[in-house]
Amino acid sequence: MSAFDMFIDGESVSSVTSVRFDSIDPYNGETWATFPEASAADVDRAVTAAQRAYEGPWRQTTGAERAALMRRLADLIAENTEQLALADTIENGKLLREMRGQAESLPSYYTYFAGLAETSRGASIIPEKSNFLVYTRNEPVGVVAAITAWNSPLILLTWKLAPALAAGCTFVVKPSEHVSASTLLLAELVKAAGFPDGVFNVVTGAGETGKALVSHPGINKVAFTGSTATGQHVMKAAADNLTRVTLELGGKSPNIIFDDADLESAVNGAVSGIFAAGGQTCMAGSRLFVHRGILGEVSSTLAKRARDLIIGDPVLDETELGPLAFEAQLHKVMGYIEAGTGEGAELLAGGRRSDREDLRRGLFVEPTVFGNVRNGQKIAQEEIFGPVASIIPFETEDEVVTLANDIPYGLASAVWTNDIRRAHRIAARLEAGTVWINAYRTVSPAVPLGGFKASGIGRENGYEAMASYTETKAVWTELSGVSRDPFRLG
Ligand code: NDP
Repeated sequence: MSAFDMFIDGESVSSVTSVRFDSIDPYNGETWATFPEASAADVDRAVTAAQRAYEGPWRQTTGAERAALMRRLADLIAENTEQLALADTIENGKLLREMRGQAESLPSYYTYFAGLAETSRGASIIPEKSNFLVYTRNEPVGVVAAITAWNSPLILLTWKLAPALAAGCTFVVKPSEHVSASTLLLAELVKAAGFPDGVFNVVTGAGETGKALVSHPGINKVAFTGSTATGQHVMKAAADNLTRVTLELGGKSPNIIFDDADLESAVNGAVSGIFAAGGQTCMAGSRLFVHRGILGEVSSTLAKRARDLIIGDPVLDETELGPLAFEAQLHKVMGYIEAGTGEGAELLAGGRRSDREDLRRGLFVEPTVFGNVRNGQKIAQEEIFGPVASIIPFETEDEVVTLANDIPYGLASAVWTNDIRRAHRIAARLEAGTVWINAYRTVSPAVPLGGFKASGIGRENGYEAMASYTETKAVWTELSGVSRDPFRLG
């Protein structure tokens, strides 16, 4: 069993209280590692280190200097992707090939934002007052606290850390108690890349750490990914200190298939939307709107794909569905499946905890498809975060847009059609931060990602992300030297 320490001010440290918590491998139910439970004193130590680093050498660095360090970090990550991916798979049970793909994409985020660090610039503004020269500076927001979720810890961290480092911020992250190891492995790479002590810090915890971190008065910005309910708590805690927040929260994304779509690609997109990652992703395409003209064909093909998925050890290359991440998650998903059958939805595939002898010790739920679901039903409205698809029939474009938007969430969406006009008409009407046309589940460092409505506040990735880690300062210079009426705003 591995015993991890936290990473504060460039050093591996345990908690001042010496309390530790366990991490359980969801594939075999065994405790495989322990982590320190950070107390408020540990959080304070991490935030103080980040403040010191911010006020010290880090703040004086140029964008080019930060970019050089970020590129070194990208290279080190590229050399260690297998180790990082495996650590996540052991803790969250997601397929190694999924976590490997994520790990392999991480360097591109650090190099993209390294480019923005080097090319970041303010504006020179010519106001209507001709006696003034005005320019703007983009200054780092300060010390950032990040709370990341267990489903994709390193990519969710990178979406925050890369723009924060590029902007010149320092950082304290609290990973999920279910998946802490990979973040600590990344900390070793940050140190090896040569970042000054205190620029990047990791506190681990299970219960009180997150709250202590986001309410610390030394934090200037909180970047959170997790459930909408916890996001609301984070925002309330941040309000006391007027701490800036970006929130990447839950989703219940519509995946819309029209009768003129390429059905093979569309069903493949439906599988990717809900069964890849075991449905444990904020952007899961969990509401599958299918045109009535193709309802039978799509329903039966998807149900067959669900029944045929290879369930098993997430480390093996052939496996298509691993276990859910932790016990409470399994009960939550099973509760929704019961709610679906209770509400009269038609169970087309799955619906049970796997009873296969070799999977008994793991947290396996069969890939599940419900047909003829109504949009108002619980399984169509609440985030399940598991491999459960709800097929909702529709007939017209207006009807499907109304149904798709009739939900508190607005993270992602997709539309499958060969009619380019319709595709863009619908893209403009969907209330979601992302619309994929004839695709599902693709992301990029250059493309902003985030939620409408209850799915969040702010955007990760792209220029938008960089802006959210900076404060804009306007600098006014008087040019004429003439003194003016001090009692007029002018
Ligand atoms: P949560 O959304 O509850 O977040 C847990 C994290 O938030 C922990 O790190 C925790 O730290 C921290 N936290 C909890 N309360 C506070 C607070 N008041 N202030 C600051 N930080 C706090 O995720 P769970 O892992 O518990 O998952 C619950 C459900 O959320 C899942 O079933 C899933 O449906 C959904 N979810 C959605 C995600 C998405 O991307 N949309 C991602 C992850 C989960 P500490 O342990 O120290 O309290």
